[in-house]
Amino acid sequence: MNAYKLLDESSHRCLECGDPIPYGRSDRKYCSDTCRHRWHNRESRRWHRRYARIIGILEKNYGILDHLLKLGVESALKSDLVQMGYNLDFLTSCRKVGHRMVCRCFDIRYEETDSRFRNITLDRFAWRDDD
Ligand SMILES: [Zn+2]
Repeated sequence: MNAYKLLDESSHRCLECGDPIPYGRSDRKYCSDTCRHRWHNRESRRWHRRYARIIGILEKNYGILDHLLKLGVESALKSDLVQMGYNLDFLTSCRKVGHRMVCRCFDIRYEETDSRFRNITLDRFAWRDDD
């Protein structure tokens, strides 16, 4: 069976430039290698920007929790955290343990209630700190 065929120009258009793709496999998405590279490069840049923005938010959250730990603070109002710049929408894990919500920002663990983070602690996992 021949994989290449004439394509319906009205429905087969290049994802990058929008030009019709007159022939090729029915799942062909680009009119040329140039368009394919441009589209993938732009998607890659977009992905990296989004990733960097999320990591930046998580780093800020982590920094705030780490600062509280260094001060010996184990519990904080969410409203105070938000005032410090904490973004409550981003965390690295959260699961229900009994009636508690146990969440983490990387290796810092806390229990989340409606109004506060409680029992903020550093998880040691299996590795040892060298410092
Ligand atoms: Zn194109």
